[in-house]
Amino acid sequence: MPLIFDIITIFPEMFAGVLSESIIARAIKAGKIEVRFTNPRDFTKDRHKKVDDKPYGGGPGMVFMPEPIFLAVEQVERQATIAAAEKTRRILLTPQGQPLTQKVLRQLSQAEWIILLCGHYEGFDERVIQGLQFEEISIGDYVLTGGEIPAMVIIDGVTRLLPGVLGNDSSNRGDSFEEGLLEFPQYTRPPEFRGMKVPEVLLSGNHQEIARWREEEAIRRTRKRRADLLEKEGSREKPERNRSKLLGR
Ligand code: SAM
Repeated sequence: MPLIFDIITIFPEMFAGVLSESIIARAIKAGKIEVRFTNPRDFTKDRHKKVDDKPYGGGPGMVFMPEPIFLAVEQVERQATIAAAEKTRRILLTPQGQPLTQKVLRQLSQAEWIILLCGHYEGFDERVIQGLQFEEISIGDYVLTGGEIPAMVIIDGVTRLLPGVLGNDSSNRGDSFEEGLLEFPQYTRPPEFRGMKVPEVLLSGNHQEIARWREEEAIRRTRKRRADLLEKEGSREKPERNRSKLLGR
C-alpha cells in the first residue's frame, strides 16, 4: 500500500517538477507513494473563487479565510478509512511550527497517510489553527511565500526513507543527522584531480581501516561544523555506528 500524501494547496501546479523527476518520480511509479491534491478554491462560493481577505485590525497582506480551508480539509478527511488514526499525520505548514529534523522525517515515514496543509500570503485565519488542531511544522527559521515548498521538502525527505525507494536501503543510514553526526567525506574517481588526492586509506581495500577513518572523519567534521549535534541526546560518538555504510556495503 502506498504512503498517501494529500496536499491542500491553491497552487497544485507547483509540485509538477518535484513529482516528475528522479527518485520521487520512481517512487510514485513503483507505488511507494501517492500524491493527491485538493484546492481550497474549489470550495468557494463566489465567482472569483476568493480564498483570502484583508486582516481585521489592518496591516499588509491577505489572510486565508477559514471556510474554504475547513471545507477542503473536511473533504480530504472524509476518506478517513485510508489509515488508522495512529498512522495518520495531519500537518499545517507554518514558520511558527515544530522545526523539521531528520528525526521528525523518520517518524513521518512510519505513517500511511499524511495530510499537508499549505498556507500562502500572510497565512491562515487563527481559527483554522484553533479549529483543525493540525500539528504544525516549520522547515526552518525563515519565511517563505507559501507552504508548497515546505510540503515538497516533507514529501522528498520522507519518501527517500521508505523501504525500497533508494537503490540500497542502507544508503540513507549513515547520512548526516541520522545518528547525530554529519556524514564523512566522500570521493569517487579519479584517484587524483588537479593535485587533490583521494585519501590513501580509501584505496587500500582494508575495510576495517576504511570504517575507522570514516568514523573519525564524521566525528571530526561534526565537531568542527556542528558541535551542537554532539551535545544532543542520542548523538554519541559511538564507534559501532552504521557499520554497513562505513564498511562500504
Ligand atoms: N505571516 C506568517 C508569519 O509571520 O508567521 C508567515 C506567512 S508565510 C508568508 C505564508 C505561508 O508560507 C505560511 O502560512 C506557511 O504555510 C508557509 N511557510 C512560510 N515559511 C515557512 C516555513 N519556514 N516553514 C513552513 N511553512 C512556511
